[in-house]
Amino acid sequence: MKPQIRSEYNGKGYVYAASAEETAKKTGITRIARLASNENPYPPSPELVSAAVSALTAVNRYPDPSAAKLREVIRRTVCDAPVVVSGSGMDGVIETVFRVIVNPNDKVVISTPTFSVYGLTAKSVSAKIVTVPRERNFSVDVDKFIAEAKDAKLSFICSPNNPTGTVTPADDIEKILQNISGFLFLDCAYIEFAEEDYSRLLKYDNLIIGRTLSKVYGLAGLRIGYAFVPEWFVGPYMAAVTPFSLNCVSEAAGIAALSNADDKDGFVAYVKAERKKFFEEIPFPVVPSGANFVLFDTAPMKSDEAVAKFAEMGVLVRSCSSFPGLGDTFVRVSIGDTWENERFLSAVNKLC
Ligand code: PMP
Repeated sequence: MKPQIRSEYNGKGYVYAASAEETAKKTGITRIARLASNENPYPPSPELVSAAVSALTAVNRYPDPSAAKLREVIRRTVCDAPVVVSGSGMDGVIETVFRVIVNPNDKVVISTPTFSVYGLTAKSVSAKIVTVPRERNFSVDVDKFIAEAKDAKLSFICSPNNPTGTVTPADDIEKILQNISGFLFLDCAYIEFAEEDYSRLLKYDNLIIGRTLSKVYGLAGLRIGYAFVPEWFVGPYMAAVTPFSLNCVSEAAGIAALSNADDKDGFVAYVKAERKKFFEEIPFPVVPSGANFVLFDTAPMKSDEAVAKFAEMGVLVRSCSSFPGLGDTFVRVSIGDTWENERFLSAVNKLC
């Protein structure tokens, strides 16, 4: 007889992108454009690889439990504010924040459609989830959001939002912070590609800004997440985080990535130029984006059908039918390498 599992895990979990290897096998196209996961398409520099390899020589020892060196470099290169880290990406930060704040049946408010991990993690602690749908243009209706979030333990806004790319103005976030009693987790995984700056809001005692090295810094495979938090939150976070969550190889690579501002700035400029091209050349309605991806509406064609056609042409993009509240005709495409973008633009123009 099978032992019992929690009912929360009888259904679906995180939706992963299709495998490039399997798509290559199925289509016979050897080089697949991987535009489904909002990654940086460029591999790390030789300097970064050598920093990571050097760190391998010390893996017989546990890493620094507080990742002090990485946190120091984040404060110096990104923003001089109290910071915590996680070795399982921002997903790990979110999980730890839940451990610190949320009890079973506590109210958690999520601005939707958005990234699935907030809801999945809320489920893992049996929180009471309330979703607040965005407007038709995917902006956050601040008053509507406050009406639900004012008595919540923890609320989530993603800006630029995954999958819409929509940026929420700092003034709107400030109004929310002033009118809620719990925490706001502002997910800024893609903030480097936008113009908005939330750092002046870090004076608020109920703001956590999630960040990651997976996107602009191109270290998705090393799983490094961090968050700017109120000073007094660092202690509880450290008490709750999985011990030695950040490994020493990731820490060394993270330090190397943050120390190379030229690579980051060059990639941001490239993404902005390619994003503009996508905006102009995709022959479907496109949502304005502050991220390294754009969302477009293939209606009346269903997004699952569109994504299957893209795959046949050697392009992996993301069907957004799994994002509750978004409908079944939206497709998200990441900005990739130039050959990938060209392949995508040629494919999308064959679709309609
Ligand atoms: N937030 C958003 C909005 C994301 O899209 C992602 C990754 N897809 C994450 C957080 C998680 O990032 P990480 O790789 O740091 O876990």
